[in-house]
Amino acid sequence: MVISICQAVVTLLWFIRVTDGMPDPAQRDLLMRQEAFRQTGGQVALTAAEQKLDAYLHHLKEREMSAAQFPPAIHFFRAKPLIQKSSIFKMLQKMPKGAALHIHSSSLVSVEWLVKNVTYRPHCYICFTWDNSVRFLFSDRQPFPRWDCFYWQLLQTLRAKIGDPTGFDNSLMQHLTLFTEDPDGEYPNQDVVWEKFEKAFIVAAGLITHAPVLRDYYYKGLGELQLDNIMYLELRSGLSRTYELDGTIHDKAWCLKTFQEVTKKFIEDHPDFLGARIIISVHRALSVSAVKAAVKEAIQLQKAFPDIVAGFDMVGRENSVGTLWYFREALSLPAEMGVTLPYFFHAGETDDEGTDVDQNLLDALLFNTTRIGHGYALAHHPLAKELSRKRNVAVELCPISNQVLKLVSDLRNHPAAVLMSEGHPMVISSDDPALFGTTGLSYDFYQAFVGIGGLKANLGTLKELAVNSIRYSSLPPHLKDTCYAMWQNKWDAFIVDHS
Ligand SMILES: [Zn+2]
Repeated sequence: MVISICQAVVTLLWFIRVTDGMPDPAQRDLLMRQEAFRQTGGQVALTAAEQKLDAYLHHLKEREMSAAQFPPAIHFFRAKPLIQKSSIFKMLQKMPKGAALHIHSSSLVSVEWLVKNVTYRPHCYICFTWDNSVRFLFSDRQPFPRWDCFYWQLLQTLRAKIGDPTGFDNSLMQHLTLFTEDPDGEYPNQDVVWEKFEKAFIVAAGLITHAPVLRDYYYKGLGELQLDNIMYLELRSGLSRTYELDGTIHDKAWCLKTFQEVTKKFIEDHPDFLGARIIISVHRALSVSAVKAAVKEAIQLQKAFPDIVAGFDMVGRENSVGTLWYFREALSLPAEMGVTLPYFFHAGETDDEGTDVDQNLLDALLFNTTRIGHGYALAHHPLAKELSRKRNVAVELCPISNQVLKLVSDLRNHPAAVLMSEGHPMVISSDDPALFGTTGLSYDFYQAFVGIGGLKANLGTLKELAVNSIRYSSLPPHLKDTCYAMWQNKWDAFIVDHS
């Protein structure tokens, strides 16, 4: 039925007549349906119960779009309380969203937990740096001074001396997140916000890379996702070296093994969670030879942990450091060695059109990337867009990240609106939930569904985005089938509860 409408409209397009008088209302109606057919979810056939929920969502969306304050048009830090009150958001929280395919391990868990739980553990030292930042370190003895830290204080002792522990904890949280009540004043441009962004990662590292914390951290991270009705994760991680209280250092293999064990334990405790895999990431600031070594190491680690390692990516701000083409010798290594190392490149997270960085998108595709992280610039690259569509290379859309990192202010103007209207392969993710103050994927789904998709995005759009997260995951076919079946059961229950 759907196909026959499509064929009729395609035929109609060939014979469309433009007249000076009143356009034919039937022809107009058919053309509008043809456009809707092309959008993300446009070809999803909804059941009667789904149609009922869809009509209700449409009504809610009309109401939110005509309200005095429209959250997607406002900076997320100010829009967050509005979104939390939204009926659509509350429904999205309950909706089974499938998989989170673009999250960084250093920003997986809410900073509140890091401060209120982790920094209250014994042996946690703090140091205030010359550039108004902090460092944390767990140690069973007074740590030695470092170049960036001359004086370490035991947090337990420091807290005992402080009169306002809540205020102190809030100040610690400020070092771990980008959240502020005045985002425009505090972050006037991309350089300033990225500087704070990179700094926050360094602050978190002292806590997260403590071996016992890392276990709890992963477990907590999976829990936060599962609570938001997500059932599978692909986590980008540099597999930083972890340390014990006595200074013992663990390598990357230890980190992967820990991740594997924690995931297994989490699935035992939560059988409706399918699992998690790692995309090994290295920073773009490294030299070509260091990236070569990292690629070789990733190949070895993938061989040793085939169920856990999904592939490889390069992270860090695209604008400031090496492009993919700059690293071409390193990135060609797997092919030269006759092995497969799937790539999941961040590419096109830029608004600098026509620069070398802007070419990352095409290069990512030339290096046969499996998905594109962000692809913010993709709408401006017709050829790259065509290639990614033909090869089913999905874009990982992270709307809140793009807004907070100052690529776009009003999310209605996000270029992904073009991609959504064309049904481009796409998944929704949250990039750095802890840094942006989001949990799970519901906030980003809200922005994509209400802001970027606008009134024409419907329940079919949401359904396709959730299914896409399984379809474009790195899971082998049999696990995709399992994941899809588990998701379908959850989806059916969600529809029953909400129609
Ligand atoms: Zn990212």
